[in-house]
Amino acid sequence: VLPPSTGKIDFHNVTARYTEAGPPILSDLTLSIRPGTRIAVVGRTGSGKSTLALSLLRFTQLSKGTITIDDISIQDIGLETLRRDLVTMIPQDAILFEGSIRENLDPFSSHSDAELQSALDACSNISTSPSAATNQLLRLGTAIHPHGANLSHGQRQILSLARALVRPSRIMLLDESTASVDSATEARMQVIMGEQFRGRTVVAICHRLRGVVGGFFDQVLVLGNGEVKE
Ligand code: ATP
Ligand code: MG
Repeated sequence: VLPPSTGKIDFHNVTARYTEAGPPILSDLTLSIRPGTRIAVVGRTGSGKSTLALSLLRFTQLSKGTITIDDISIQDIGLETLRRDLVTMIPQDAILFEGSIRENLDPFSSHSDAELQSALDACSNISTSPSAATNQLLRLGTAIHPHGANLSHGQRQILSLARALVRPSRIMLLDESTASVDSATEARMQVIMGEQFRGRTVVAICHRLRGVVGGFFDQVLVLGNGEVKE
């Protein structure tokens, strides 16, 4: 069950910095995302794509402007509500820790084994040959080494997707969440996201245009120097 939010996002003339004395990373950025749309964010290295995502989670300081979700300023939304209930982020570097896959998927034990297993099942058979290694791995009891060291980058991203599937938030932020998998696997991850994220707002940072073609996205946002270029 999704929380009572439509997933509408607006940036109004936002200037954002990481520190008060630091340089502006987003400059006077205005952007409107309709509920339930899927936006690809592209732009060169350092153009501010990750910063845009982090700003929605209040990891930056706004020296100007406001960011709203469903027309409510995120400054007026509690951090826990914002980061746990409203928005789910798959970060650029998947955060995995030592423990079982079950613990990594659901650190606060708020889901049943059946729910977690069905998220893993949705992600199994995801990678193309040789897929056996990945499928063997996607079990609740599988041990993960610190920082996910025993997994490939692509396997970490598949696990991050499984983790996102159990989160019922209206807004999904994906930071290059398919960058480390081959193109067939990426296409299948997008099919799963298309099914599982139906009706949710998806903001996906795509470093390579490869992930943008294929009809998954409704709109493409081009960032340059912290500004909307297109
Ligand atoms: P990439 O495609 O390489 O992931 P990006 O578009 O996501 O790049 P950002 O990570 O948003 O780029 O970085 C934009 C600018 O913000 C860069 O100049 C970077 O140095 C700066 N920056 C990023 N993270 C921080 C931070 N935690 N503290 C200070 N500056 C930062
Ligand atoms: Mg980035």
